[in-house]
Parts: sequence; structure tokens; C-alpha cells
Amino acid sequence: MSVTIKSEHEIELMREAGHLLEKVHDGLIPYIKPGVSTKEIDRIGEDMIRSMGCTPNFLNYGGFPASFCISINDEVVHGIPSEDKIIKDGDLVKIDAGLIYKGYHSDAARTYAVGEVSEEARTLMEVTRECFFEGVKAARAGNHLNDICKAVGAHAAKYHFGIVRDLVGHGIGTHLHEDPEIPNFPMKRRGVRLLPGMTLAIEPMINLGRADVAWMDDDWTVVTMDGSLSAHYENTILITDGEPEILTLTK
Ligand code: MG
Repeated sequence: MSVTIKSEHEIELMREAGHLLEKVHDGLIPYIKPGVSTKEIDRIGEDMIRSMGCTPNFLNYGGFPASFCISINDEVVHGIPSEDKIIKDGDLVKIDAGLIYKGYHSDAARTYAVGEVSEEARTLMEVTRECFFEGVKAARAGNHLNDICKAVGAHAAKYHFGIVRDLVGHGIGTHLHEDPEIPNFPMKRRGVRLLPGMTLAIEPMINLGRADVAWMDDDWTVVTMDGSLSAHYENTILITDGEPEILTLTK
């Protein structure tokens, strides 16, 4: 599949898909607290998505058994919500979510610190978020895909954090995952030329320790090999003639 260029009408639908997803993320914040199970957050979030007339796009994607990916501490991404996973004080909780509005997908992830976390955990969260914004600065028509990859990776490298290489960002539109793949580190090639109307999910996944990750026996949960903390931050963005537009961050 080649990289799709969205029409003005499609962009309107993606803006709404993004705006609704931002509301879901914001609506979940009060529940990210000690004593709440990740399954409960999944249930509440799924209800929100469905009450908006939308569909959770992660549910049954490749067999994924829930609407949200909720990953804690050394879990990088794709944590499966469970009644047995109870949020504790000091946890780093990553909520990755997406929805379909009138056939168009949005995708965004946030990392939250529950109560007091270490100074280095807070730095990791902040730098991961900053990595996304460094990538966005390079997400301009006329640049190439690798300009985004280089910008994201260079910022994380300044802090000597581990940049996850086994998972990458992606194009998004009528499918959750479209071309191109968007690594969070420099590629050998320049990659596609960025054009107005491209919609991309940029999603740095950064570890406090080494970059290596492993898959757990549930076939989904990705964890850091060295057990170090991991952070994730993602938005769906639109390439324009000028400033890139962040579709899942509208405030
Ligand atoms: Mg994504």
C-alpha cells in the first residue's frame, strides 16, 4: 500500500475522529489512580467511545482482546487490560487508544505518573513527549520521512535513553496502520517525501534503560528486556502546506 493523501472531506472526518479521541483520553484521567484495575479503565473508555457513536479500533485488531492498550512501568506497549492489574501509587501508566469515526481512524497514547514517581521517571515521560514534538517540527511538506525519524531519535539520544526499535509509528486513515512505517530513529534512506494531506501517527516509545524489548506469553504485552521503565506518547497528525496539525491534541 502506498501512502494515502486525504481529501479535504476526509481530513474533516479525521479531525473529528481525533477530537473525539482526545475527549476519551481526557475523560479517563480521573480513573488513572491507585486501586483501579486496567480492565475497569478499558470498560469505561469503551463505553465513552461507543456513546460517541464510534468504534474502538484496537478491539479484535489482529485478535487483540480489548479496546485499550494499558501498559504499566516496564511494559512498553500493548498491555492487555485485566481485572488483576491494579494501578498502584508510583506507577507509570501508558494508555494507548484509538477509535473509528465514520470510517476514519485516530490513534493516540499518553503516559501518566500515578502519585509520586522518581525524578528520572518524570524526565523519561517529559523527554518522550518532547520527542514527539521534535518529530512534529520536522513533519512539513517537502521534508522526507527520515527528517521526522532523525528529529525524534536525536532528542532521546541526548538523554542516553533506549529508543525502542522493534515498534514504530505509522500512517493512518481508513486503516489503523497504513504506510509509511515511522521509526523513532534515523533510517538509512530518506523515506517518502512528505505531502499535504498525509496523516501520520508519530509515537516515540522510550526506555530508561536499554532499547531491547521482549514479548510476553500473552503474545501481546511488550516489555523492556532489562526491566527498566518505559514511556510512550503518540498523536495523529496532518501534514499541511504550513504548520503540521495535531489532530488528537486540539486544545
Ligand atoms: Mg499507533
